[in-house]
Amino acid sequence: MLSLNDLKSKLADQQQKIVITTHHKPDGDAMGSSLAIFHWLKNKGHQVNLIVPSDYPSFLFWMPGQDEAIIYTEKKDESDRLIGEADLIFCLDFNHLSRIHDMGDAVRASEGLKVMIDHHLSPEGFDDIRHWDSSAAATAQLVYDLIVNQLDERSAIGPEIATSLYTGIMTDTGSFRFSSTTAQVHLIVADLINLGAENWKIHEHVFNSSTESRLKFLGFCLLNRLEVLPEYNTAIFAVKAEDLKLFSISTGDTEGLVNYALSVSGIRLAALIIDRGERIKLSLRSIGDIPCNEICARYFQGGGHKNAAGGQSTESLPAVLDTFKTILPEYKNLLTS
Ligand code: 5GP
Ligand code: MN
Repeated sequence: MLSLNDLKSKLADQQQKIVITTHHKPDGDAMGSSLAIFHWLKNKGHQVNLIVPSDYPSFLFWMPGQDEAIIYTEKKDESDRLIGEADLIFCLDFNHLSRIHDMGDAVRASEGLKVMIDHHLSPEGFDDIRHWDSSAAATAQLVYDLIVNQLDERSAIGPEIATSLYTGIMTDTGSFRFSSTTAQVHLIVADLINLGAENWKIHEHVFNSSTESRLKFLGFCLLNRLEVLPEYNTAIFAVKAEDLKLFSISTGDTEGLVNYALSVSGIRLAALIIDRGERIKLSLRSIGDIPCNEICARYFQGGGHKNAAGGQSTESLPAVLDTFKTILPEYKNLLTS
């Protein structure tokens, strides 16, 4: 394993060919941390490409530089060439190559040095250089720490980088609400505002950009798809494929829905189970010691953090719902204590 000092000298050395990537279906932290690194390295004069494994939510389409991102599935040959020729590959907000789907093989095969910056548990170990801390609220927090504290380059942060990092921290902390939001996180976002992040505009872009149809979908789910199981302090949304079709729901439109289930008084575990057609996707959220990541890893081929994790299944929606309910007795002590 190389150190951050080795990274520093490599970046100071000469112009490098750099690829930046992040996980499948990138969220605000994935795009925010990736775009911050993108601007930082570009401003240093390197040859930089941001390649994302899939499309991402339209509420991020305003982010500075996002229109330069290459979507892997749309330009596979060009992407594979860039990955193969890269001197450095920055991997942000994930630590298993399975999280970048079909891109994983090309990244693994590339001789470029892999720099992993991430806050998820249990790294696979594909990386050569690592800035990893599972207690960080967001990968964007680690990018701030890398640039400001580890590499002493605070002056390199202008409005574009500050905006990207603010977006990552804001979205991964549920607007500074989750237990990961320490005083240090507030100090960092305050500094990002000083550095040019227009906080109220970022909130507007991300949270007040719903379509009418998406808002009606939310109302529909609250009324018709929420099931509360008081004996397990658990609430579940089970969303059918036809629901998504009825309201023309696309990538990112279901983001945040699971939090409504967690907002019911007394609820400690919330699940959003969606029939995406080719597979069922699960999002779990919890408070306290209920391990969403363990549940997702054991039963739904997934993982994540203790209080926020995801997984999938190839079974039918009723079957997955059933499986989920049969797991609850095993966690009854944690759910009701
Ligand atoms: P979300 O429920 O918002 O999709 O994801 C919550 C957290 O779990 C995120 O940190 C995300 O990276 C992680 N996550 C979501 N789906 C998966 C998955 O299929 N596998 C793994 N390992 N992590 C996931
Ligand atoms: Mn993250």
